Amino acid sequence: MSNGIAGKVVVITGASSGLGEATARHLAALGARVVLGARRADRLQALVEDIRQAGGEAVHAVTDVTSKAQVQALVDAGRAAFGRVDVMINNAGLMAIAPISQLRSDEWDRMIDINIKGVLYGIAAVLPLFEQQGGGHVINISSVAGIKVFAPGGTVYSGTKFAVRAISDGLRQELAGKVRVTSIEPGAVESELKFGSGDPASREEIVAFYQQEAIPADSVARAIAYVIEQPADVAINEVVLRPTVQEF
Ligand code: NDP
Repeated sequence: MSNGIAGKVVVITGASSGLGEATARHLAALGARVVLGARRADRLQALVEDIRQAGGEAVHAVTDVTSKAQVQALVDAGRAAFGRVDVMINNAGLMAIAPISQLRSDEWDRMIDINIKGVLYGIAAVLPLFEQQGGGHVINISSVAGIKVFAPGGTVYSGTKFAVRAISDGLRQELAGKVRVTSIEPGAVESELKFGSGDPASREEIVAFYQQEAIPADSVARAIAYVIEQPADVAINEVVLRPTVQEF
């Protein structure tokens, strides 16, 4: 009997580290055919090699999610390799924490481009295909910072993650009956995300917080497997998961 994951073609952006990498490994071990995008080619190549050596199926395409064309090329690569795409995981993200009064507008731009526009490009790349195929599943990675404003310091990051949650719910409403939509909202998870700020003081604080509280990235991978494995008439629309010790 199928486990609800084996054979599905799953595209993951930001697959070169953290949650994306853990999710790629976990889903591939459950039989998914994974299509991996990120900017670091060496990391993607090594990951594809590992997955294949473990008996899984994976391909990659170097992808910057701020380029609509590159996101489309990632989805097209998945389709070329495996014939279809069942799940799009818009995971690539940047968390550049700093007090808003520092006016780090370059970092604001990058967070908006990666965290919001990157997600929209991912949606744009799969919707026509999902329509042709008669279905599909979009999974967007928001955050607990998309439920509660993370201030001081995370104001713009929270803004982007609120946007991801809003876009996910709008997509769900507009495509009810056609596409499954899930927003994943994790708390502190071990990854490279904590190094994203250009402000040394904020970075130090965040690294210390993560040292105390973060849980391993495969905790999110298991949540993602759970939402994918549901029968086609069941859509898990939101998953909030935190380290048990985390208050925020
Ligand atoms: P990481 O920094 O470990 O991973 C981020 C990934 O995104 C990397 O693979 C990176 O790869 C990729 N990425 C960054 N910029 C781009 C870009 N322009 N184009 C394509 N890929 C890009 O962090 P996480 O694994 O933690 O982050 C994954 C998602 O989870 C993010 O959306 C984050 O906001 C969210 N999240 C994380 C939490 C946590 O505590 N860790 C909590 C809640 C949400 P490369 O540099 O090779 O491009």
